Amino acid sequence: MTISEPPVKDRQDYDGRSPFPGAEQHPPANGVQVGLTAAIVVLPFIALVVAIFASWGQGIALTDLLLAAIFYVVTGLGVTIGFHRLLTHGSFTARPWLRVVLAVAGSMGFQGNVLDWVAVHRRHHAFTDRPGDPHSPYRYGTGLRGQLRGLAHAHLGWLFSDDRTPITRYAPDLLADRAMSRVARAFPALCALSLTLPFLLGWAISGTLYGALTAFLWAGLIRVALLQHVTWSVNSLCHVIGSRPFRTRRHDRSTNLWPLALLSFGESWHNGHHSEPTCARHGLQRGQLDPSAAMIRLFERLGWASDVHWPDPARILRRRARAPVIDSSDDRYR
Ligand SMILES: [Zn+2]
Ligand SMILES: [Zn+2]
Repeated sequence: MTISEPPVKDRQDYDGRSPFPGAEQHPPANGVQVGLTAAIVVLPFIALVVAIFASWGQGIALTDLLLAAIFYVVTGLGVTIGFHRLLTHGSFTARPWLRVVLAVAGSMGFQGNVLDWVAVHRRHHAFTDRPGDPHSPYRYGTGLRGQLRGLAHAHLGWLFSDDRTPITRYAPDLLADRAMSRVARAFPALCALSLTLPFLLGWAISGTLYGALTAFLWAGLIRVALLQHVTWSVNSLCHVIGSRPFRTRRHDRSTNLWPLALLSFGESWHNGHHSEPTCARHGLQRGQLDPSAAMIRLFERLGWASDVHWPDPARILRRRARAPVIDSSDDRYR
């Protein structure tokens, strides 16, 4: 296992343009890990290609489309509201049952177990776009070739490297939380459930094995592939393309990328998020669509969420890129 945190000197010497020290070293992960990751990453994508050929000229059944949309929304919000805004950043407090429901829904998104996900993401905030960031598109420098390699690495190449993020260091709070540890242990079962449920629902609704299989394809595999690539695009594209209206820490190049706002449930307002990591709303400017924040607002109205960190207008104004630096107290992820 490689060391996840680079020496302080490497981080201080980093100029924001060069490849990260040791970027070319790629200690291979063990065979089982690579095989499992490959299956999780590649199979849904192959399914997409198969589905396009299979349904060419005959379209998709409305049932499959609706089922896919429902599973996409539930598992997607599990990741954005549960894994990310609640468990990584503590941007609100949820009733214990809601916390578990969100963690279960997020686990069904095939993005790793909740403890690993949170640890990796907190590490990303601690070292954004500097040596130590697990998935920065600037890993190989800012030249064109390095940038393209970096984008591939940030999108999914990082999943295949043996660069484990210690949970004990980055998510000790969740490790001590028995409910979260249980959800993490149930990750393989929840992945299986995430594919089995569409199959069974497809069977129940259509009454045929063919209906079960097409539901499995669209609401299972393809829905998983789409959510994975949207989440990974936030790691890759939302650090390269888009606007940077808010100040972030040195070297942090997170961006706001509007075309992904709806599909990512508001997570592509990534510059706003990196500027105010503990804020429950990532779309900090007028008109920025943020379905996750809207859902958190609904949870709050229902009395299921409390202590929600909503944007503070005066603070947001101070975070504007052109505003004078007033405070720099945000060297933290939660
Ligand atoms: Zn980021
Ligand atoms: Zn975050």
